[in-house]
Amino acid sequence: MSESIMISIEKLNKSFGDLHVLKDIDFTVKESDVVCLIGASGSGKSTLLRCLNFLELKDSGTITLEGEVIEKDSHDLNEIRQRVGMVFQHFHLFPHKTVIQNIMEAPMQVKKLSKKEAEEQALVLLDKVGLSDKKDVYPSKLSGGQKQRVAIARALAMKPDVMLFDEPTSALDPELVGEVLATMKELAEEGMTMIVVTHEMGFAREVADWAVYMHDGKIVEVGHPEELFNHPKEERTKSFLDSVL
Ligand code: ADP
Ligand code: MG
Repeated sequence: MSESIMISIEKLNKSFGDLHVLKDIDFTVKESDVVCLIGASGSGKSTLLRCLNFLELKDSGTITLEGEVIEKDSHDLNEIRQRVGMVFQHFHLFPHKTVIQNIMEAPMQVKKLSKKEAEEQALVLLDKVGLSDKKDVYPSKLSGGQKQRVAIARALAMKPDVMLFDEPTSALDPELVGEVLATMKELAEEGMTMIVVTHEMGFAREVADWAVYMHDGKIVEVGHPEELFNHPKEERTKSFLDSVL
């Protein structure tokens, strides 16, 4: 595994009005690492991911991407968002576009790829997520698992350096969770750097290099998944794990 740092944050703080959601978060992810972020609802996991791809702007602290400190005043945040892909719980596909159009849209609009280049790339990605036969279908005709695999392909079309997943399987029927996790596992095996908010402990054990437990806007404990799940050091981690395992 490479030792180079992909993304690191230092003393990150974020509030919504009086609500202090992220409290002095420090966090480092090396290239090709897969990190699973766990914690109770409301602990700040989504806000942390959203700060990492600048959907939310931090109040203070430092975000460093591939050695470069990123600030809204000195960087084009759209360019940064291309480097940090995100997959959401509720897919967010364009309903009026077909599967392949969903994947071609941003590369054509943002990266100025030609239609032909965007289409060739989309076909490769559809093959990768196992949906070549659905390319001309509208999202409403897909299962949740298929929608999420299209969303993953769409994020990959921007050739991100890091992928963030915010509870990618939480909205799926149980029988559809596996196909999405399998796609994510493949991506991890190809060396993609990934930060995944998930309660899929099996996935975390099998795929993640690190598990991070967040509580009330702070990182309470970090460890290898097996170690953190089986031998949590902190009392709060223990009680959270007891509630979900
Ligand atoms: P998690 O993903 O761990 O469930 P979130 O990051 O979504 O937690 O939310 C953390 C806290 O911040 C919650 O109390 C939530 O209500 C609040 N919050 C999140 N986004 C906003 C927002 N845009 N405006 C106000 N409060 C928000
Ligand atoms: Mg969340």
